[in-house]
Amino acid sequence: MSQEVEKVKSFIIGSGPAGYTAAIYTSRANLSPIVYQGMEPGGQLTTTTEVENFPGYPDGVEGPAMMEDLRKQAERMGADIRWGLVTSVDFSHRPFKISTDDGKHFEAESVIIATGASAKYLGLESETKFRGAGVSGCATCDGFFYKGKPVAVVGAGDTAAEDALYLSKIASKVYMIVRRDAMRASKVMQDRVIKNPNIEVIWNSVTKEIYGTEQGFMKAVKGAILTNVVTGEDRKIEVDGFFVAIGHKPNTELFNGQIQLDEEGYIKTIPGTTQTNIEGVFAAGDVQDHIYRQAITAAGSGCMAAIESERWLQTQD
Ligand code: NDP
Repeated sequence: MSQEVEKVKSFIIGSGPAGYTAAIYTSRANLSPIVYQGMEPGGQLTTTTEVENFPGYPDGVEGPAMMEDLRKQAERMGADIRWGLVTSVDFSHRPFKISTDDGKHFEAESVIIATGASAKYLGLESETKFRGAGVSGCATCDGFFYKGKPVAVVGAGDTAAEDALYLSKIASKVYMIVRRDAMRASKVMQDRVIKNPNIEVIWNSVTKEIYGTEQGFMKAVKGAILTNVVTGEDRKIEVDGFFVAIGHKPNTELFNGQIQLDEEGYIKTIPGTTQTNIEGVFAAGDVQDHIYRQAITAAGSGCMAAIESERWLQTQD
């Protein structure tokens, strides 16, 4: 029995700021996009609280509310937004073949990949418990809430160093928790961290537990217990914010072997564009950006992908 196949001009995978912005633009260009929302409808912003740095919201906005607004805007423009996961893609021939977990099959003339990235976490139970209530994976998003309060940053790469330096201007004190006796961050960043009087680097230490208060749904981090891996001794630090900066993982497992990825797994795009190595397949947002990783830059590249896919489709008629 032959499977029913839906034919579509523009198929968008992912529903963060990049995916929804691409949906708004492709809808307005009459490409009638279908969007599959993925594992986390709304993307990483649905796991944060207040967003204060997205232009156009003078009083800030809750991350989930902002993503709901973006979804509604895309739907009002005509995007067909569906709850579910893409389970396989075949980019070897055009039209591109896509299957989803609701048993549907598609043939798409163009594809925009906007599956984002996920911050890596330590994997502690207490860390999960306080996620969004003191534990954060994004210093630029949440640092401001710890004005004048002590915070900790875990990690020793460029992101952790950048986060520690950023937080040192806001927080009363920053503890940087490094699991070895050396940092991975570039020399210049390390020097800045070491010289900063507001940052205390705690070497050779891993986090045993994050603790805090809980009253019903109200939770707040109060500190962490660290173990020195050389001496075996525990140390308690009192902090209100606990920032995990141990790297990000782009959500690209689905595209392994289908599209060019860099050595860290991010989709490679032609610099200054969203064009991947497969003509007609574009990538936008954090799945192709390990530098900026902001909602506004993701939205901007979603717009680029929509315009580029529209122009590319015109050349195919
Ligand atoms: P990295 O992979 O470079 O660093 C991750 C850090 O987290 C490492 O120091 C690692 O420790 C530590 N880590 C990993 N797992 C754990 C764990 N379970 N517990 C404690 N610590 C852990 O990630 P980044 O996000 O820092 O950087 C990614 C890329 O982006 C890099 O190439 C970086 O140079 C680049 N970047 C560049 C910037 C710039 O140029 N301005 C800014 C930010 C990032 P260990 O060293 O022991 O493995």
